[in-house]
Amino acid sequence: MSIPERDWQTATALLSSSRDVVLACHVAPDGDALVSMLALGAALRRSGVRVCASWGSSPFEVPDAYSFLPALDLLVPTEQVPAAPELLVTLDTGSADRLGVLVDRVSTSAAVLVVDHHPSNTLYGTAHLVDPDAAATAVVVAELLDRLGLPLDPEVATALYTGLVTDTGSFRHASTSAHVHELAARLLATGIRHDLISRAIYDTQSFGYVQLLGDVCARAVLEPHAVGGLGLTWTVVEGEDLARHGLGLADVEGIIDVLRTAREAEVALVVKYDPEDSLYKVSTRSKGAVDVGEVCTALGGGGHRFAAGFTSYDDLPTTLDIVRGALAGAPHLPV
Ligand code: AMP
Ligand code: MN
Ligand code: MN
Repeated sequence: MSIPERDWQTATALLSSSRDVVLACHVAPDGDALVSMLALGAALRRSGVRVCASWGSSPFEVPDAYSFLPALDLLVPTEQVPAAPELLVTLDTGSADRLGVLVDRVSTSAAVLVVDHHPSNTLYGTAHLVDPDAAATAVVVAELLDRLGLPLDPEVATALYTGLVTDTGSFRHASTSAHVHELAARLLATGIRHDLISRAIYDTQSFGYVQLLGDVCARAVLEPHAVGGLGLTWTVVEGEDLARHGLGLADVEGIIDVLRTAREAEVALVVKYDPEDSLYKVSTRSKGAVDVGEVCTALGGGGHRFAAGFTSYDDLPTTLDIVRGALAGAPHLPV
């Protein structure tokens, strides 16, 4: 499903006529969310637009893995986001509540352009560039920049390439299309250091993380009869684990990528305690036989078919019971 031409026209008209733009992404931003803001922000700023970018959760810190990204000076702390922007552009944010404490800006902004690729997008806001087939929001941003006549210089290219790498799992997930590789080729042609990008994102961890990974994987549980017999593996990262190793939630995003390699389980699940908000964040991945996006959307979260999440205000046993029940009832897809 590609984006209708009239949506492109609305979006480019909005951006071409705005001199003051606020960018926002989902809480606890991942690579795609961050870079989609930074790429669009850097390109707009260069064309003379006043632009700032933020998100509505604490800590307001760029995860270490992304500290190499360009244009980080576009970021302003949540409380400095203008109260009533002329144009708010949300990026990689499937529903208004995912803006966290910035959710009110959806009603206080004169216009709200939603740039996203989540199938679960609720089409909040006043204008939409939503393509569920796009491998990353960064892919939609790249086309937007092309249509605005803004160049893909090395700064913008570094950001967009990072979005491609993070949301395709280094060009491994099913979402990796010919278009993704074509875009990657254009970005590499600007001379960016893709080797340093991949090393920063995937191959650089603190020793504390390596130890935490060991702890968390050692306590992983395999439930072969779960998910209607397709198998489930799960583990938990408690607040004490983070505290013991001096880590934050953003540092432990990669655990699910280790857990999901277990052949015996169709679905992998990491339950992570969020010490800021005293709740659990649940990450899920499937190998293609279960639409975890639907399961998580039904549980109040969202995401993609094979990578999704939700927030749980219950304790660990209850959280697990709820998700086990939802997974048991999920239809099995042909693979
Ligand atoms: P994660 O497991 O945090 O890497 O998230 C995988 C996908 O699910 C991403 O596209 C997230 O945006 C989405 N997602 C995770 N948690 C939530 C949530 N609580 N509500 C909506 N979408 C979520
Ligand atoms: Mn995201
Ligand atoms: Mn994304």
